[in-house]
Amino acid sequence: MAVSAAQRFARIATAERPSDARVLMKRAIVLGASMAGLMAARVLSEHADEVLVIERDPTEASTSPRPGVPQGSQVHALLPAGNTQLDRWFPDFTAEALAAGATNPDPEAIRNYVNGDLRPLPPGGSLGISLVSTRPFLESLVRRRTLAIGNIKLVHGRADGIEFTGDRAGAVRYQPTGEGAELVTEAADLIVDATGRSSRLSDWLKAAGWPQPPMRRMPIKLNYASALFKQDPDISDIGISIAQNQPGSGQPPRQGGVLAVEGDRWLVLVAGYADDRPTRDLEDFRKRCRDDFPPAFGQIADHGELIGEVVTYHQADSRRRDYDQLERIPAGLIVAGDAVASFNPVYGQGMTSAALHASCLSAYLRSDPPLDEPARAYFDDVRVVVDAAWQVSTFADLALPHVHGPYPRGYRLVKAISGLVFQAAAGDPHVNVQFNRVTTMLDHPSALARPQTLLRALRWKLLPSTA
Ligand SMILES: Cc1cc2nc3c(=O)[nH]c(=O)nc-3n(C[C@H](O)[C@H](O)[C@H](O)COP(=O)(O)OP(=O)(O)OC[C@H]3O[C@@H](n4cnc5c(N)ncnc54)[C@H](O)[C@@H]3O)c2cc1C
Repeated sequence: MAVSAAQRFARIATAERPSDARVLMKRAIVLGASMAGLMAARVLSEHADEVLVIERDPTEASTSPRPGVPQGSQVHALLPAGNTQLDRWFPDFTAEALAAGATNPDPEAIRNYVNGDLRPLPPGGSLGISLVSTRPFLESLVRRRTLAIGNIKLVHGRADGIEFTGDRAGAVRYQPTGEGAELVTEAADLIVDATGRSSRLSDWLKAAGWPQPPMRRMPIKLNYASALFKQDPDISDIGISIAQNQPGSGQPPRQGGVLAVEGDRWLVLVAGYADDRPTRDLEDFRKRCRDDFPPAFGQIADHGELIGEVVTYHQADSRRRDYDQLERIPAGLIVAGDAVASFNPVYGQGMTSAALHASCLSAYLRSDPPLDEPARAYFDDVRVVVDAAWQVSTFADLALPHVHGPYPRGYRLVKAISGLVFQAAAGDPHVNVQFNRVTTMLDHPSALARPQTLLRALRWKLLPSTA
């Protein structure tokens, strides 16, 4: 029987720890030690005698932003589905992160505003936990747990290319960090590219005579600015506040966020699109907090003690590389995380996608695949995860006034369904839970079109008093 995308997504997003891992290879190499690379290394540690991770940046003991992850100073929310995967691969991860300073705010300290109106939260506990911290702090915990595994080794250097032998990727060339170090070639049975959005794998494939994956882009022109403030209960009791002014609301489409992060700090975000660019100027930051978002934003920005500086970031597009579409792809090659797809960050899907790609890798390796053939089953599963995130983010982005496509097939129908469900989520608890399960990647977007959800959403629209 054919398995639907929703069923495959549910299997990938499972919380269950696999019990059937088998060693299939001598050595795996992972390029990049950020969220995708570390999670992939964790999975590979059960299937390879040795896992070598190659990372360009110095990373030891760092909980600060680093050059290879330039977005690290910006607000990063971990979605519940990502939290589930972290606990799946690193038992007690959540407890450890909370003990180290991450927060998990009480429901009373969480507020979600749309066009200035407070939206109801899904009933308590229905979405699971979601750790709140800065991005470098979360990554440092994942790194510590990953590198504590005996057969994983991290080396510092810049990956410079892949060597192909016949129909397979067989070795990595890298330049070790340090003056005068010579280029090194390391052989591997499996190579994972987790070098992020700017991955050069496509160029390396082309240079070696392989086809390049088709690249799809959605121009979003997103502008972020974030700043840290010392927490002060006399100013606000906010644990998480998210606020958005939607297109068509009469306001410019803008996003704001306040997160209570480790070290008794608030990380505050303001974001706009196209020519609407928050600057590094503190007065501009404060004005946006005061004028665009609920009062707590302005109170924190005006009266909170600033730590460091306002930091800005621009992301031109969401992009995906469809490796599953390639007619020819070398054996022994895996691509994970932003190197496959990166989305408009306001939806917080990136780290969770990376964690779900690790789950796809685990499923692939547990299927006892022939490693001398391309990892098609892996790329097919990754497509399900990418499609799910892409659908949620790009459908919302297509409503932005400066975004004019590309429009996917079925756009009008999906837009109508998601618009109906979004409105009904403000009043119907069942629809609210389902909507939030999809936006937090616990469920595949097709769950919004289930008859029970659609009927309840329609009933709410026609007879709002019955919800
Ligand atoms: C402004 C902004 C806000 C975001 N907010 C969120 C959020 O709220 N929630 C969320 O889940 N996601 C968010 N994201 C997305 C998230 O940052 C990424 O999805 C996530 O970091 C992807 O991890 P990755 O490991 O695939 O790639 P990256 O984090 O980009 O890491 C790539 C790694 O590869 C290394 N590397 C690169 N080239 C080489 C080389 N040649 N040799 C060796 N190493 C190399 C780099 O140093 C780096 O360590 C946001 C992104 C942006 C831009």
